[in-house]
Amino acid sequence: MTDSVFTKIQKREIPSNIIYEDEMVFAFEDINPVSPVHFLIVPKKQIPTMNDLQEQDKILLGHILLTASKIAKEKGISDDGYRLVINCNKGAGQTVFHIHCHLLGGRTFNWPPG
Ligand code: 5GP
Repeated sequence: MTDSVFTKIQKREIPSNIIYEDEMVFAFEDINPVSPVHFLIVPKKQIPTMNDLQEQDKILLGHILLTASKIAKEKGISDDGYRLVINCNKGAGQTVFHIHCHLLGGRTFNWPPG
């Protein structure tokens, strides 16, 4: 599998503002933010889509959500509220085929989403 744009970010081959990293995940500012706060939480394991998840990935998935929750608190958006989004495949708007969780905050969000 060739490196995704996010793996290249994690390897520092593409510049970005990485705000968090541990053995399983890393997080950085989205290059094209759709809200005042917009981070991506990405597993180091390069899984293309949510359809490719396996039973063994459940700890990793929990870690992604826990990391998002911690970053939301650190960035001061947890009390007002925030939205986590994982797009799966083109029909849902996925453009980078390395799963990632969007952490969106700093404004109100409509429901249902567009
Ligand atoms: P998706 O549409 O796949 O759910 O989300 C992909 C996200 O990755 C988009 O919000 C897009 O702005 C972001 N993105 C794509 N390429 C880069 C990049 O090179 N650097 C950063 N920081 N974000 C990127």
